[in-house]
Amino acid sequence: MSVLVTGGAGYVGSHMVLALCDAGHEVVVLDNLSTGAAWAVAPQARLIEGDVGDEELTATLVDEHKVDAIIHFAGSIIVPESMSDPLGYYLNNTVKSRSLIHTAVKAGVPHFIFSSTAAVYGNPKTVPVREDEDLLPISPYGTSKLMTEFMLRDASVAHDLTYVALRYFNVAGADPKGRSGQSTPQATHLIKVACETALGKQDHLQVFGRDYATRDGTCLRDYIHVSDLVQAHVDALTYLRSGGESQVFNCGYGRGCSVLDVISAVERAAGLSLDVRDAPRRPGDPAEIVANADKARSVLEWQPQHDDLDFIVASALAWEKHLQHRNG
Ligand code: UDP
Repeated sequence: MSVLVTGGAGYVGSHMVLALCDAGHEVVVLDNLSTGAAWAVAPQARLIEGDVGDEELTATLVDEHKVDAIIHFAGSIIVPESMSDPLGYYLNNTVKSRSLIHTAVKAGVPHFIFSSTAAVYGNPKTVPVREDEDLLPISPYGTSKLMTEFMLRDASVAHDLTYVALRYFNVAGADPKGRSGQSTPQATHLIKVACETALGKQDHLQVFGRDYATRDGTCLRDYIHVSDLVQAHVDALTYLRSGGESQVFNCGYGRGCSVLDVISAVERAAGLSLDVRDAPRRPGDPAEIVANADKARSVLEWQPQHDDLDFIVASALAWEKHLQHRNG
C-alpha cells in the first residue's frame, strides 16, 4: 500500500513527502519538475518525472505501487498569473486533474486528497469564512480549483472513491528541521518576496493597495505554517483510510494578518528596515480572507502547532538564507 503524491517536488508537496516518509509510509512522487526540484524530494521516496495528465503513466504507477491514496498537489498557484493566462490554469489545474481522477476511478484507488484553495470563495460575505459560504471565485486560479472540487464531488457520488479537499489559506514558512522550504524561483508570494528583500535579493517590496476597507488599508490574509497544513493532509489520510466520508475543509488559523503586519514581522526577524513602496491594487486580490477551520479541528482532529506569524516568518527567512548559500 502506498501513497502517490503529485507535485511532491514542489513547496507544499515536498513537505508532505517528508512527513509521510518520517511516519514510515511508502511514497511515490510524480512531478514534471517545471517548478519543483528533485533535491527537495525526501530520499526515501521514489521520484518519477512526468505529467499528471498522462493517464497511461499514472495508471502504471498506481498499479505497480499498489497505490491506495492519491494526494494531488501538482498545479499552478499564482493568482495574478492566472489572470493573464487563464487557459493555462484551466489546463494545469482542471483538465489534468480530470485525467488523474479518471485514473483513480478506473484503477479503483479508494482515496483522493486535493489541494484546493481559499480563492474558491472570492470575496466572502462572512469572515471568518466557513466551508458552506457561497463559492464565487474572482480569479481563474480559484475557478480552476473549484472545478476540480466539483469533479471530485460528482465522481465520489458515482464511483467508489472518497475524497477530502483542503482549502488552503496563505501557506508560508519552512520545515522547522530546515529540510525544505519555498524554493520556487520568481516568487510572487508576500512572505517569500519580503524575505528575499530582507536578504538583498530584491531591492524593494511593493504594497499592492493601501485603500482596502481593512484596519490598515492593506489586504488581510490567514497565513498558515506549511507544517500545520501538511499535518491536515496526514489527518485527512487517516480519516479516509478509517472510512471517513468525502468532505471539504478549510485550513487556516482564523486570524487575519495585513500586508503591513507581515512586513513588520520580517523586519523584526531580519533586524532591519525594508524598502517598502506603495503600488496599485493587484487584480484578483480579495480584501480579506480568513478561515473558520472549526470543521477540520473537530472532524479531522487537526491540531495546528505553529499559529504564530513571527515563527512562520522566522522559518521562511532561515530557509531563504539556506537557499542563498545553496545557490551561491
Ligand atoms: N502582496 C504585496 N506585495 C507583494 C506580494 C503580495 O502587497 O510583493 C499582497 C497581495 O496583494 C495580497 C497579499 O500580499 O494582498 C498576499 O498575496 P500573496 O501573493 O502572498 O498570496 P495570495 O493571497 O495572492 O494567494
